[in-house]
Amino acid sequence: MAYQNIEEICSIAELASLFERSGSIREFLQTSVSVIAYHMRAAVCSIYLYDEQRQRLVLRANQGLESAMVGKIELRPGEGIVGTAFREMRTLRVARARESSYYKPVPGSGEERYEAFLAVPIMLGTERVGVLVVQDPQADYFTPNDARALKAIAAQLAGTMDNARLFMNMGREEILRAPASAARPVAPVIQGEVAVPGIASGRTFTPRKPYESLLAGYADADWPSRPEDFERALATTEQEIKKLQRELEEKASDVASMIFSAHLMILKDDAFSGAMRQLITAGMPPHKAIVEVINKYVRLFSGSTNPHLREKTQDVKDLGHRLLSSLRGADAQTHGYEDHLIVATDLLPSDIMRFAAQGAGGLILSGSGSTSHVAILARSLGLPTLLLDEAVVQRVPEDTPVILDANQGNLYISPSAEIMERYGELLAAQQEMRTGEEVPGGPVRTADGVEIRVMANINLISELQPSLRLGADGVGLYRSEFPFIVRNDFPPEEEQYRIYRKILSEMQGRDVLFRTLDIGGDKMLSYFPHVTEANPFLGLRAIRFSLHHKGIFSEQIRAMLRAGHGFELKIMFPLVSSVDDYLQAAGVVKECLETLRHEGIAHNAAPKLGVMVELPSAVGVIEELAREADFISIGTNDLVQYMLAVDRTNRLIRDMYQCSHPAILRAIRRIADAAARESTPLSLCGDAAADPVLIPFFVGAGLRTFSVAPYSVPMVRRAIQNLDSCPAREHAEKLLGMGRLEHVNAELSRFAAASGGVTPPSLQG
Ligand code: PEP
Ligand code: MG
Repeated sequence: MAYQNIEEICSIAELASLFERSGSIREFLQTSVSVIAYHMRAAVCSIYLYDEQRQRLVLRANQGLESAMVGKIELRPGEGIVGTAFREMRTLRVARARESSYYKPVPGSGEERYEAFLAVPIMLGTERVGVLVVQDPQADYFTPNDARALKAIAAQLAGTMDNARLFMNMGREEILRAPASAARPVAPVIQGEVAVPGIASGRTFTPRKPYESLLAGYADADWPSRPEDFERALATTEQEIKKLQRELEEKASDVASMIFSAHLMILKDDAFSGAMRQLITAGMPPHKAIVEVINKYVRLFSGSTNPHLREKTQDVKDLGHRLLSSLRGADAQTHGYEDHLIVATDLLPSDIMRFAAQGAGGLILSGSGSTSHVAILARSLGLPTLLLDEAVVQRVPEDTPVILDANQGNLYISPSAEIMERYGELLAAQQEMRTGEEVPGGPVRTADGVEIRVMANINLISELQPSLRLGADGVGLYRSEFPFIVRNDFPPEEEQYRIYRKILSEMQGRDVLFRTLDIGGDKMLSYFPHVTEANPFLGLRAIRFSLHHKGIFSEQIRAMLRAGHGFELKIMFPLVSSVDDYLQAAGVVKECLETLRHEGIAHNAAPKLGVMVELPSAVGVIEELAREADFISIGTNDLVQYMLAVDRTNRLIRDMYQCSHPAILRAIRRIADAAARESTPLSLCGDAAADPVLIPFFVGAGLRTFSVAPYSVPMVRRAIQNLDSCPAREHAEKLLGMGRLEHVNAELSRFAAASGGVTPPSLQG
């Protein structure tokens, strides 16, 4: 028995109070390991804390190993005894470490000298915080009682350790030492809902309240008072909005332009400007008439039970602001917003335009749904956007440096130099998409000359030009649902035709794979009455929705067929679960072709029809699908979700969402083989296509076309250029022979390291 008695262990619980007296987190952790090692009579004691961001267990304090290793040793969940205890959330008591299949000594740490190993996960509720470890040179040193004692210590310390972890991962230990007088402590990292992915850094800027503050800024007597002043303000406002709309159109945003048409419609509505006019004629000063009607509309919209209407409140406020500004004459913001992130509880679409035009880097907002016009506009403009609760937004300090990671949903307040540095590289990569040098397009070749195509996944028209600039060889996936999500109603056939035609024209003959509507699941249309489904991801989603609503489906197909006139046209169906699904969808296309011919409307009479393979059932009949369909695209985002039964949006089981699972790799190989046998063109368009660690496998398994987010195109092209297809094939064969995820990940790591020492992001967890 190593530890003396349980009372002593309980006294160790007093460690938490040591924290108060320690000068820093490091000092506290160091004291903790010394005291635990002493009481457990163990030669070595270590604390590993989990860095969620990087998905690594980091050695944060140690007694008995080489002291220089603190902060240096990093383990993946599942790696070694420590990583395994963490991943499996269980205590591992090992008599002879060397004989354990989990054992993986860290070179240079000196731990080869220690035989006995006891690792206990530190848990806070269901949250995994880290691992507490003791080691000793004497084999079989630790008893089951020791294990219970160490677990008790881990439980006692979990809360404090979790705080330590949070702050150490931030590299901001000093926050803990902040004076007690600090009025409203702000969490150094705030989590929110991602509305527009991306990364931005800068200082926070909180804009003034819109039209109310403008009103408050002037005495009644200072406002122009004649009816003609109002008419002038009305005309100016209309011109301004039209200008905004034109600017947005130039930026080729298919969805954002509609936002301003809604503005114009409200402005022209007699019940709106007409009501203002009536009040003015009855003797009310114009500024008061404007506010009166605006307030009425704000009440009307904000009180609506329809969320889409509620979102219109912002448009009305925006109009109020513009009308009052125009009435006053010049009242424009004069300073730019370069290096600023806008923090607001109620931001107007035109504010976003103004901020974006003047260089703002991102948005931190409340009061908007992620499908609201504000969010969509931000997306079109490439502004990373995070949505927070209103109370949280109000606590974000003004004029403070922050990093907005709207990929992970984190906002870092006053980040440390370490965090800034970590994000510097990511920011540079993102910048490449916006301003980077032109990457020549066309097929790319592996080092030994195998031709590969890298295409772009496009959500908005505004992404077309950047993807061409970044070397995309066409559009491998156009997610057609975005124009549907932004509107109040289904976009008419004409509107869809305009969008699809524009995509084909801008791609100048390059391949474009249109995907038909993929809504349902987590993508809902606010204007469409939908039944509540217990499992929306298993419900009326994607092609099922389209086949269920043939009218909507036919309109989309007609728009695509018409847009494809004079171009090569490719249409694919999402979430196909059987050959029958595919044939039904193809049947609708056939019907549309017949009606268009009958109506004498110009269209593409020979579209190629494809299947997205995203379901295990589609893999099960892939041979038949490859025979029937003109082309196939693998959607790994959903394929992984459905094959592994891991919800892609569920953070709790993020670790389990692994494209490198042997079942997925084998499914991909089966699809590639079936496509090759039938000479059916095949591409891969899920996010995994942009994972540098998996690309050698994909190439080795026979994939020759990839479609990735535009900003990933240059990286994927480089990864392919550096790859030799022969070793990639051997690597793929090796992987396909492995039945265990752990072995697959080890082989992926080995291959990645051998071909340039990449840290494999796909394996971080
Ligand atoms: C996929 O599932 O891999 C895919 C590309 O489609 P989405 O991400 O739009 O579901
Ligand atoms: Mg999908």
